[in-house]
Amino acid sequence: MTPQEVLQQYFGYDTFRKGQAELIGAILSGRDVLGIMPTGAGKSVCYQVPAMLLPGLTVVISPLISLMHDQVRALRENGIPAAYLNSALDEMAYRQTLAAVYNGGVRILYAAPERLETESFARIAAEVPISMVTVDEAHCVSQWGQDFRPSYLKIVNFLQMLPRRPLLSAFTATATKEVAEDIVRILGLHDPYSVTTGFDRENLYFGVQQPRDKFRALMEILQEHEGESGIVYCLTRKLVEEVTDKLNENGFHARRYHAGLPDAERAQNQDDFLYDRVPVIVATNAFGMGIDKSNVSFVVHYNMPKNLENYYQEAGRAGRDGSRADCILLYAPGDVRTNQFMIEKSNDNDQLDELTRTRLREKEQERLKLMTFYCTRHECLRNYMLRYFGENAHNFCGNCSSCRANYEPRDITVEAQKIISCIYRLHQRNLHFGVTSIIEILRGSKSERYEKFHFADTLSTFGIMADVPEKQCREIVDFLLMENYISKTDGEYPSLTLNRKSAQFLKDHPKLIMNIVKEEQPSSRRAERNLPDDVNAELLAILKAECAAAAKKEGVPSYIIFTNAALQDMARKIPTTEMAFLAVSGVGRVKLEKYGTRFLRVIRDFKADHMKGNS
Ligand code: ADP
Ligand code: ZN
Repeated sequence: MTPQEVLQQYFGYDTFRKGQAELIGAILSGRDVLGIMPTGAGKSVCYQVPAMLLPGLTVVISPLISLMHDQVRALRENGIPAAYLNSALDEMAYRQTLAAVYNGGVRILYAAPERLETESFARIAAEVPISMVTVDEAHCVSQWGQDFRPSYLKIVNFLQMLPRRPLLSAFTATATKEVAEDIVRILGLHDPYSVTTGFDRENLYFGVQQPRDKFRALMEILQEHEGESGIVYCLTRKLVEEVTDKLNENGFHARRYHAGLPDAERAQNQDDFLYDRVPVIVATNAFGMGIDKSNVSFVVHYNMPKNLENYYQEAGRAGRDGSRADCILLYAPGDVRTNQFMIEKSNDNDQLDELTRTRLREKEQERLKLMTFYCTRHECLRNYMLRYFGENAHNFCGNCSSCRANYEPRDITVEAQKIISCIYRLHQRNLHFGVTSIIEILRGSKSERYEKFHFADTLSTFGIMADVPEKQCREIVDFLLMENYISKTDGEYPSLTLNRKSAQFLKDHPKLIMNIVKEEQPSSRRAERNLPDDVNAELLAILKAECAAAAKKEGVPSYIIFTNAALQDMARKIPTTEMAFLAVSGVGRVKLEKYGTRFLRVIRDFKADHMKGNS
């Protein structure tokens, strides 16, 4: 068989994605490889396809038991003899698996790195011909990375123990140059064929909203995504509780997840989410490690996270099967303070000396600032992120809220002068106000609060922005704060103050340009976009239900049977014969045998009922 045939027969895909064919070709020609590809790009296929073509066993080292579980189930569903060895197996199952490995009944064996030191593995190493060792999440071997796992160093010992050096392949989604070098050096990859496909996830829509009422905005998003699976991230446990309760009060089904919950409840909630018994999980950033649910259609951030690394990782849990998905961040200026506070109070680095800790904090504050720019600058969000991660990017992606909204660059030099002079004049009179008051004064508020100051008669800047809507004033003030043209004092009632940059600005008045929304985009656009035009939505809903029923019977999450991407392709091609069913992306030989009859019946019934005369 050729790699292409394996891809078609077992995985049900017609063509390789970017990087896959090259990596597979290199492996089959006997070279070590290093694949750096973003989440959802299809790294697994890169070692699973060759594993079916190499003569001996492929051992896959993977750090997370839950991921192994999923991968093995999915492979078996495709008719590929795969198994795993980890602490989750009872003794009986462990022995059965070992026996299958010895007599050649397993082609792909997943194991956690800790397993490699066990006696059973020493025996496998001695008795079973191993063609390839694949290291998944290979960045865990590097101390540069955030996820260093000392147990990954055991891989090296294991390799040395083998009578013949197998091929080595290593994969990761996140590797800076240093980390990539570490992977090659520490694992001892021989002149590896390397592929880096870039960070971009084209199927993800990125959006930032700054709603007056976050909860309401959240409900709107959930309504648009009815019947789909999604994650809502909050910054604090307290907020997780609040949002979950309010959602359930409002008729949405949601579960909570954070590190403060009893283990049993946490595990239960996670499982209910994975098995689609509940569509939405509200969580702190504790949720997600080792979650490989491929049919997550949206990730909402109820708060801005503290940096773009975290954001991209969390948002990236949407759309792993390649179908379109939404990543929406609900921003409020208050999120900045909460994060600042959390950074100041964090004691993650207790063991470090004071100086290093201060440096790390400064670095964190800097990252926070760049995260905030993501939310406030109205630049193309995708490209802002790609540049942050060190890639070249264009200025327009067409699939983010900035590119889709009607932003227009506007010269705000005059407004900035007015705002800064107003603060300046007030300071001359020893008066200090916060954002809201300053805006009220600029817009000439008649509130009693200001009567005693007689601003109308004595303050030249009183009411000079009466013609600018309040919301826009606020946007401009936020912009000036972000760009450091003005500052805010600390404390419970922060007031606006001037700094060196303000003075410089009043002196030189350089031109200031800011992107301003011309018109709010209708929120329904997202939902429309999420389903490609040629997909029959009605049939899709029926197929999803059928898939859920089949999954329930098998006791697996439904995405193990068919991914959303596969179901969408089915509702696009509307196959009524076995041949046509096999042409659906994600339907291989085994899936056809197992589920063909059942799904074809549903599709034929649908066609008979709904599409008379147009087939
Ligand atoms: P990664 O490990 O890189 O995050 P996966 O290997 O889990 O990504 O693949 C993501 C999804 O893409 C899976 O649903 C997988 O079946 C699918 N996929 C992989 N390769 C292809 C391909 N060539 N064509 C279509 N879908 C693919
Ligand atoms: Zn864009």
